[in-house]
Amino acid sequence: MQVFGLIGDPVGHSVSPPMHEAAYEALGMDARYVTFEPSSDALAAALDGADALGIRGLNVTIPYKEDVLPLVDPDPLAERIGAVNTIDFSGEPTGHNTDAAGVTRALGHHDVTLSGTAVVVGAGGAGRAASFALADEGMDVRIANRTVARAESLAGDVPAATAHGLDDLETLLADADVLVNATSVGMEAPEESPVPREALHGGLAVLDAVYDPLETRLLREAEAAGATTVDGAWMLLFQGVEAFELWTGRDAPVETMDRALRSAL
Ligand code: NAP
Repeated sequence: MQVFGLIGDPVGHSVSPPMHEAAYEALGMDARYVTFEPSSDALAAALDGADALGIRGLNVTIPYKEDVLPLVDPDPLAERIGAVNTIDFSGEPTGHNTDAAGVTRALGHHDVTLSGTAVVVGAGGAGRAASFALADEGMDVRIANRTVARAESLAGDVPAATAHGLDDLETLLADADVLVNATSVGMEAPEESPVPREALHGGLAVLDAVYDPLETRLLREAEAAGATTVDGAWMLLFQGVEAFELWTGRDAPVETMDRALRSAL
């Protein structure tokens, strides 16, 4: 049996197990996906143990995405982002960041053309992944964050990116093609949005990384403005799809994983 899993703290409410196990079942694989909550002191020992036990792959979530970086051999994208969300144990443990592909594949799945200008709101982990992913597609990236110094630090690392405060959003979005909300604003708070309604328009594709709730105020207002909307479950789905494909070398059963994910959310 192949074993995959997730390490983080907490991981109890993760929807990754049903999403991945639905894929194993659909493809007739003898595999399981298990969650682990090591303490931060035990993180290095946990990875050594996972490797020794023959665990095939691990996803990594909060708070360990950055802590894992020095414990594995990161690929260039994970190294640039500064965070690992997927470890492959097929040889020497390698670290990858599939949140980046989660952003681009979620948008691509909705026929969004990744050219022109993207506004990324947020400069934490999701904001870093989104900014590198969209810049690597050749988009001009404008990063807006509550703490402007954090946006400036990120923009210094991302090709052709600029840094801004949240007050600039209306101007930044006026001629933009893509908007990604990579802040936690709207999470468990459907009445909050990080972007003023007046800044939204029909020329935008809007991806909200928030997936609890799925229908955020930002997406409701974006839809009313005529924008293409992509909810956070799509990003979650495609980071999982990308991890599955990396670990197994097989095409993921995307629709099956999507159904399992959405019924678990
Ligand atoms: P993080 O590293 O803690 O970053 C949080 C970001 O939100 C920072 O930019 C922070 O700004 C901003 N923020 C927090 N509260 C704010 C407020 N009241 N007003 C304005 N900005 C605020 O978190 P993360 O890991 O990037 O996650 C961000 C969101 O993305 C979460 O909702 C998470 O669930 C979601 N996410 C989704 C996926 C997916 O697959 N769909 C993947 C990863 C994350 P400051 O820098 O000023 O503090």
